[in-house]
Amino acid sequence: MNNSEQGYGARLKEEVIDPGFCSVCGACVGFCPYIKTFGERVGVIHDCKVCEGVCYRVCPRSPTQYHVLRQEVFGASEHDPVFGAYKAICFARAGSEHLRSRGQYGGVVTALVTFALKQGIIDGALMTGGNFTKAIPTLVSSVSDALQCAGSKYTSSPTLGLFQEAVKEGYQKIGVVGRPCQITACRKIQKASEISGGKISLVIGLFCMGSLLPEFYSFLKENHLDRYERMDIPKDILFQGAGGDVMIPFEDVRRFIRLSCLSCYDPLSELADVSVGSTEHDPGWNTLIVRTAKGMDMVEKARFTGDIETKAYPPDLLNVLREAVFNRKKRVLECPESMYLDVPPREKDYFLTAGGDA
Ligand SMILES: Cc1cc2nc3c(=O)[nH]c(=O)nc-3n(C[C@H](O)[C@H](O)[C@H](O)COP(=O)(O)OP(=O)(O)OC[C@H]3O[C@@H](n4cnc5c(N)ncnc54)[C@H](O)[C@@H]3O)c2cc1C
Repeated sequence: MNNSEQGYGARLKEEVIDPGFCSVCGACVGFCPYIKTFGERVGVIHDCKVCEGVCYRVCPRSPTQYHVLRQEVFGASEHDPVFGAYKAICFARAGSEHLRSRGQYGGVVTALVTFALKQGIIDGALMTGGNFTKAIPTLVSSVSDALQCAGSKYTSSPTLGLFQEAVKEGYQKIGVVGRPCQITACRKIQKASEISGGKISLVIGLFCMGSLLPEFYSFLKENHLDRYERMDIPKDILFQGAGGDVMIPFEDVRRFIRLSCLSCYDPLSELADVSVGSTEHDPGWNTLIVRTAKGMDMVEKARFTGDIETKAYPPDLLNVLREAVFNRKKRVLECPESMYLDVPPREKDYFLTAGGDA
């Protein structure tokens, strides 16, 4: 059957879900009765021929013209081929010690969401609660709810599936915390007025080199690792609990990385208002990349009120980050599975031919 005869649900299934490229962001869920989540999997239960194809359009793994999305988010701002558009890169952490103790690293994401809620920048946020043994998409509207979502769950929470629920409940300024695929989906959703995309008003992206399949949960159980309180991936996998810590080789879980993540060109959530990751140096701090004017305004105000603290990024560590991201993007551009990507030839050359000019 050619594409014009097919419904968009069938295209989503055939091009994205069946071959394993779905990142389980949840963007296609919630406004169509034929698309459902089953835990951390997405399924199309019936092909819909009458819809306008929003499910396919908002998918981060349907054909994606990054340069067009960038233009819409950043206008003429300068674009760094490795880091994306940015206004500032710094180390940052939550001002509150309590919040830092709850956060994955410096607690910057939680500090910024709680600040945005208190200031009325947003009236609700799509976040991920639960813990590393079960990620739970969560719609929060209070500081205490947001605090409950602190900590990284290294699986794929379909958080954006709650967007329509937030719209139906009357939220007008919705914040999103998400993996890079979810941030790309957010920018696509913002263009879809038929699903009230304009109500997404703050986008906080996480760094992400890959998320794990739900089979990882069984692995945790079988190896009695679900009894720990906290999980981190400094290099290998660290589990921490009251009875002591244990480290297992990353190789043991490599097989759980989603196929969809191997073709991800965006480890730093380049389309976010602000992006937050580890420093790979000091677990008490985060790397914070401020990208848009809206992000900068929020960060400056949060610094002024003491909700976050910042300090300069050591240049040698910035080079380490640059190299890691460069290598990742190069690998993805070489990968035959990255067909959804539409990257300008000049940018491709920058990564694929040493010393290129983007
Ligand atoms: C799957 C995954 C892979 C990651 N890989 C890297 C990496 O390779 N390098 C790196 O530097 N950082 C990575 N991160 C980001 C890092 O783990 C921290 O989330 C980030 O540094 C923010 O730290 P924080 O102390 O501000 O977090 P907190 O203040 O504790 O906030 C964490 C936030 O993350 C959200 N969250 C948790 N799990 C998920 C999920 N599965 N999907 C969407 N949102 C979620 C929660 O809603 C919460 O708001 C990854 C995160 C995830 C979820």
